[in-house]
Amino acid sequence: MNCAIKRENKRILITGGAGFIGSHLCDYFLTEGDEVICVDNLVTGKIENLSAALENPRFTFIESDVCEELGFDVDLVFHLASPASPVHYTMMPVETLMANSIGTMRCLETALKNGARMVLGSTSEVYGDPAISPQPESYFGNVNPVGIRSCYDEGKRFSEALCKAYERAKGAQIVIVRIFNTYGTRMSKDDGRVIPNFVSQALSGKPLTVYGDGTQTRSFCHISDMVSGLVQAALSERAVGEVLNIGNPDEVRIIDLASMIIEMTHSCSEVVFEPLPEDDPTKRKPDITKAKEILGWHPRVPLAAGLEEFIEWVKDRESA
Ligand code: UDP
Repeated sequence: MNCAIKRENKRILITGGAGFIGSHLCDYFLTEGDEVICVDNLVTGKIENLSAALENPRFTFIESDVCEELGFDVDLVFHLASPASPVHYTMMPVETLMANSIGTMRCLETALKNGARMVLGSTSEVYGDPAISPQPESYFGNVNPVGIRSCYDEGKRFSEALCKAYERAKGAQIVIVRIFNTYGTRMSKDDGRVIPNFVSQALSGKPLTVYGDGTQTRSFCHISDMVSGLVQAALSERAVGEVLNIGNPDEVRIIDLASMIIEMTHSCSEVVFEPLPEDDPTKRKPDITKAKEILGWHPRVPLAAGLEEFIEWVKDRESA
């Protein structure tokens, strides 16, 4: 991982630490010798993601909602707690908005009380269905405030606004990271996002469900690159007060992703076309110029290599 930074060990709060990205982040900091407190209500996170972390004496797991009081003494706060897959957040719209409003306030208060830095796990969804591509951080977005995805898009936009308000009014130290589509081990089978869906469909010989005509694009970042980006954003002095896109700019059409996965799994699955979900963005590709300049970060894992690893992991898990 390209994030080795010499520093003193920290006590770190990670909300949503049992989730896909959060659990990898817990493992990273534990390996570095830090203490990690993970708060997760397990609505979408999974305790098995923490099986290694739970063996570590420097790890504390608290099963609780991020909207509850968080009375911890910590040096760094990562706020990642929120349903993040369209399937999950459209099923839990109120919980999603609460995690991104009350939950964000709880994290900010904890950070402020401790003089700690807070990293907000925001999202490329703040750009909505973007009118420009690639999307730089300066783009204001094109979001439907009352659409089916608004609980997440507007939740995260509110979260960002609250962080900036705490920065301006109370001097909080904030780093906002806009996380673009990410994939890798620990994405659960019921996650609903495109890569785990296609891989499990291809491996079981079921048709791959392409929504719409498949010409919409996404840019997929491997989990190891995402963790290194988040870590560098959290530890870099230059990142404080900044908004940073972290993602892989290598853009792919969903129909081409389906063909790629069929080929890589040697599957005889076909492709079926299903209706495009409402407000599904037609394109998404991060402009990562800022992250490159400020953090010296760039993604390293090509999609084919990352997919190969993910396919093997799904196969192993299914045969276990
Ligand atoms: N998608 C698809 N088939 C699936 C799941 C998703 O065609 O089984 C499409 C979805 O409509 C979107 C893209 O793949 O255009 C990425 O969807 P995902 O849910 O992974 O994340 P999003 O980027 O929409 O948050």
